[in-house]
Amino acid sequence: MRSTLLLLLAAGALAAQAPAPTPPPTPMPAWLKPGAAALEYEVVAWRRDIHAHPELSNRETRTGNLVAGILGVLGLETRRLAGTGVVGVLRGGRPGPVVALRADMDALPIQEVVEVPWKSTVPGVMHACGHDAHTAMLLGAAKLLAQHRAELRGTVVFLFQPAEEGAPAGEFGGAKRMIAEGALENPKVEAIYGLHQRPEGPSGTLGWRSGPLMAGSDTWHLVLHGTMAHGAWPNRGNDAVLMAAEAIQALQAIRSRRIDPVKPFVLTVGTIHGGNRHNIIADRVELTGTMRTFEPAVRERAIALMHETLKGACAIHGGTYELTFKDDDNPPVDNDPRLASAVRPLLAGLGVLEEQDLIMGAEDFAHYQRKVPGFFLFLNSGKGKSGGNHTPDMNLDEAVLKIGVAALAGMAWGHADIRP
Ligand SMILES: [Zn+2]
Ligand SMILES: [Zn+2]
Repeated sequence: MRSTLLLLLAAGALAAQAPAPTPPPTPMPAWLKPGAAALEYEVVAWRRDIHAHPELSNRETRTGNLVAGILGVLGLETRRLAGTGVVGVLRGGRPGPVVALRADMDALPIQEVVEVPWKSTVPGVMHACGHDAHTAMLLGAAKLLAQHRAELRGTVVFLFQPAEEGAPAGEFGGAKRMIAEGALENPKVEAIYGLHQRPEGPSGTLGWRSGPLMAGSDTWHLVLHGTMAHGAWPNRGNDAVLMAAEAIQALQAIRSRRIDPVKPFVLTVGTIHGGNRHNIIADRVELTGTMRTFEPAVRERAIALMHETLKGACAIHGGTYELTFKDDDNPPVDNDPRLASAVRPLLAGLGVLEEQDLIMGAEDFAHYQRKVPGFFLFLNSGKGKSGGNHTPDMNLDEAVLKIGVAALAGMAWGHADIRP
């Protein structure tokens, strides 16, 4: 009796602590997989066309025009924004929420070495992050959903974004600019979905994760100031090259000795330029790098430690420093748990679902998630010999494109079922 009562009390306590009920899973419409498969030829053709004509960040003129033309033929309302960006609006025949799907369109300054018939025709520019595939898959999703417009509940907004890789110096771009120019307004977007291909892992597997997924990123710029002198009389100057050596070593101790080892954190020195001549003590060295974090507290602590470290490294050699952070920071990509759990069964029906580990890479999709709940997915497209993203021999398996089309269309279609 007494034990029964205790059990009942314990059950009551558990019930009180139970999390909010998970939303119903997104059902898979019968037409989703066959419909996406039927569009495969067209989607691959779009991808190859965009791949052969890559354009750098904020220069996606041809790609944007191509996208706007196709959306127009599909009967979507289209508008241009953020320079080369395109927004397409598909209004369904039934009432429902407004949900956005996003793709990025920019390429990278890399010379492609993969020998394929659709190899880049632009010297030194290549779709090495698969944004050509993202754009083609989103066009496929737009076509598929437009075919089912009458039964579509609510509105789907298709965002084709420039400059995910970062706008050129002195320019504004990417997700921040899309948002600033009203991408999430008129109609007002309630949730957003997106994906990124990765030319690795078993082709067609999907990397799913609820909560934090990708790191926040900060770009930093450092100038070390010394005093010039003859190389044979170093005592008359303050050597900025030696300061740089000291600083680079000491900065790595922030990761190894100053930040909690279980907290994800990366501090990379990417470039170093300085000095005048072999027999002159350098008065100036410039370094740039990236910092990756998941938690604001770690980020703030790391910035403070960078200043502390640099102050010391320069003081030893009688110099000074200037440390600045570029205004291109991305917060972490953080998947809304409600959306993540709702789309999970649908995605499991499209490919082998894998629990995705945290990734120190960053994505400006995070900016949309700061405005509305969002979910971001990895689509693995590993195929034979291929470099990773951002390499000259990056090559993705086009067989995954139809899976991406179905995933994008399915997530937008099913969002009506998971409204609060
Ligand atoms: Zn990239
Ligand atoms: Zn990318």
